[in-house]
Amino acid sequence: MHIEIKNVNKSFFHKQKGTLKVLDQINVDIEQGQFVSILGPSGCGKTTMLNLIAGLEKEDDGEVLVNGKKINGPGTDRIVVFQESGLFPWLSVIDNVMYGLKIKKMPKKEAEEKALNILKMVHLSRYKDAYPHELSGGMKQRVAIARALVMEPDILLMDEPFAALDEQTRMTLHKELIDIWRKTKLTVIFITHNIREAVKLSQRIVVMGTRPGYIKKEFTVNTMQSGIMTDNVMFDLEQRI
Ligand code: ADP
Repeated sequence: MHIEIKNVNKSFFHKQKGTLKVLDQINVDIEQGQFVSILGPSGCGKTTMLNLIAGLEKEDDGEVLVNGKKINGPGTDRIVVFQESGLFPWLSVIDNVMYGLKIKKMPKKEAEEKALNILKMVHLSRYKDAYPHELSGGMKQRVAIARALVMEPDILLMDEPFAALDEQTRMTLHKELIDIWRKTKLTVIFITHNIREAVKLSQRIVVMGTRPGYIKKEFTVNTMQSGIMTDNVMFDLEQRI
């Protein structure tokens, strides 16, 4: 899925503060299959940009195109994974994963088979009958990823999905996400304010500046392929950002 954000501006209106400009002339072009991180300080407009791609917000002017067509609301081709898994507490793991398929009216047997395959991918088959409160934070995020993948989206939009997890769990999930991305060849847009995370995961980093949000810098990362992320590489990047 090819995403083009062209000359996009976005403001929000606050009763007290008046008009708050959040995105200022944003231009980003994301090719099919790319793993891109959007990096920037809190409040620079990362989530707003992701919401525009998800079709959850609308730009004031400029355009957001998906495969050359203007976005018209949300769609199952673009699914967001949030920091909070947002699982239904009253549904088991497999029923959470199957939820979207049910809405699409997929026959139960087929949906179950599909959900099980995806649960295998995130190493949670054993927990298919468990309920969200029985799972750790990392497991919940894996269910949230499974629930997104089962819909076979063309693009996975991830809004700081691992920010609330401990370092060890985050590292495991990074590995799993890279595996999934390699297997599915999905386009992934990953929001983070953590440079290390961006460098580790993505092929390309778009750095945003704040007030109002603009694209400060963009660069390609090669560390993932080689698996090397030395302190020197990090130091160099921090200087460049
Ligand atoms: P980030 O994801 O980089 O932290 P956001 O896109 O969430 O940034 O927010 C950017 C700015 O826009 C913030 O100042 C936030 O308060 C404001 N904002 C975001 N969404 C809304 C909204 N729906 N209504 C009003 N203000 C909003």
